[in-house]
Amino acid sequence: MAVLVTGATGFIAQWVVDYLLKENYQVIGTVRSQEKGDKLHKQFGSPSNLSFEIVKDISETEAFEPLFEKRGKEIDIVLHTASPFHFNTKDYEKDLLIPALNGTRGVLNAIKKYGDVKKVVVTSSYASIVDVSKFADGSCVFTEKDWNPATWEGCQTDPMSAYCASKKFAEEAAWEFAKETGVSMTTVNPVFVFGPQKFDEDVKAQLNTSNEILNGLIHSKPGDKIEPDYHAAFVDVRDVAKAHLVAFQKETNGERLGLSNGGFGSQTILDILNEKFPQLEFAKGPEPGKGDTKPAAKFDNSHSNKVLGFPLISLEQSVYDTVAQVLKKEGRL
Ligand code: NDP
Repeated sequence: MAVLVTGATGFIAQWVVDYLLKENYQVIGTVRSQEKGDKLHKQFGSPSNLSFEIVKDISETEAFEPLFEKRGKEIDIVLHTASPFHFNTKDYEKDLLIPALNGTRGVLNAIKKYGDVKKVVVTSSYASIVDVSKFADGSCVFTEKDWNPATWEGCQTDPMSAYCASKKFAEEAAWEFAKETGVSMTTVNPVFVFGPQKFDEDVKAQLNTSNEILNGLIHSKPGDKIEPDYHAAFVDVRDVAKAHLVAFQKETNGERLGLSNGGFGSQTILDILNEKFPQLEFAKGPEPGKGDTKPAAKFDNSHSNKVLGFPLISLEQSVYDTVAQVLKKEGRL
């Protein structure tokens, strides 16, 4: 069975590819350049069941057409993970909204035109569920049934709002497509994803956007003021990858699989760092040992946990594995 993974170079996608290869699927990954494909192929040990196709820019509405024209009939399952996730832009339409929306529409249209695909899984996000204005409202509980109320114009105030809205518009387009074509569709909607990079050599001074939360704290020093002070929720990347497989291996048509293993704050992370690595010096935070005491909206994803049916990696484990990988690379461990 052949599985297409879009955005195969991504932090989450590399783990998805790894889990697919371990289960002996034929894997086709999309990458933005030949060099990126060659590097990744080598990193995975050059297996014969892994190949890459170039899709340079998913903002282009027909970016996926050549790939599907060439290999569409081979592909049984599509896992669409490619989408920009960063906050370093002021051109929210060009850099966040359009690639997210066109990328999703583009791959779906190519499936319709050339493919014989049995299942589509779109990597969406809690960002398409949460109301950004309620992040700090401790009385708010979101579930898989909720939708971010953002509008195209209204979201373009700051990168976080624009990114969250980009995921909402992309996911809405996916569900519209499913309704129109009847294709079996599932979305995976994770909160902030922590966890190690698939390959140690890819640990750089700057990590992927969600792990940058940890990276900032790893490089804090005693006495530092903690900014930004996060109060959010996390899930480990290996569980997110697993969920992408469960999404097509089990009957999950129509599900939005919410992925979260609970809340964290910057203080919680610092407490873990100081406990697990006592030989190193990090900031202590304003309330050492107390964990996160600030109010934050909650995500009740108990329905998805039942559908997925596997236990999730703890915050302590996820933080430890992420941080240990960075510290080893820096020669601090
Ligand atoms: P990464 O930035 O590591 O991966 C993003 C992937 O998308 C990369 O392969 C990147 O290619 C590709 N991509 C981005 N923009 C374009 C473009 N214009 N044209 C072609 N390819 C593009 O992010 P993550 O792995 O963290 O995120 C993967 C998915 O998961 C995204 O859809 C994201 O929204 C979602 N998500 C992530 C969460 C997290 O906390 N990490 C939480 C919830 C959802 P390249 O490597 O060449 O830049």
